[in-house]
Amino acid sequence: MIMIEFFSIKTNRREEIVDITKRVEEIVLKSKIKEGLCVVFVPHTTAALTINENADPSVKRDILDKLAKLLPMNDNYAHSEGNSDAHIKSSLIGNSVSLLVKDSVLVLGTWQGILFCEFDGPRERKVIVLVLSNE
Ligand code: ZN
Repeated sequence: MIMIEFFSIKTNRREEIVDITKRVEEIVLKSKIKEGLCVVFVPHTTAALTINENADPSVKRDILDKLAKLLPMNDNYAHSEGNSDAHIKSSLIGNSVSLLVKDSVLVLGTWQGILFCEFDGPRERKVIVLVLSNE
């Protein structure tokens, strides 16, 4: 069984990390799949997905601050749109995450959450969730 769902996310700043774990969990629950795989994908070139700590917000802050130091917004990039830093951050972090589904819930560590990373907002973004099982 395969289920594909989309949802939108509206970001409020140029750079922002948003916990989307609950939105993905709702889709997994709706799929009624007990055991399988969940793939979350963002169809954007200046956004990304990662799995990391969702409890202490300072972790999200540190990730954005360190990426900003590594990749300044203005650095004589060739791309003329002025958002090369966002493109590179998107590629470094990645566009998808895969998770296991067991007993109808996502297998995540106690402190782990699925984090949507905005690098060139504010924008309306799309998240695609695929839930797959052989049931
Ligand atoms: Zn661009």
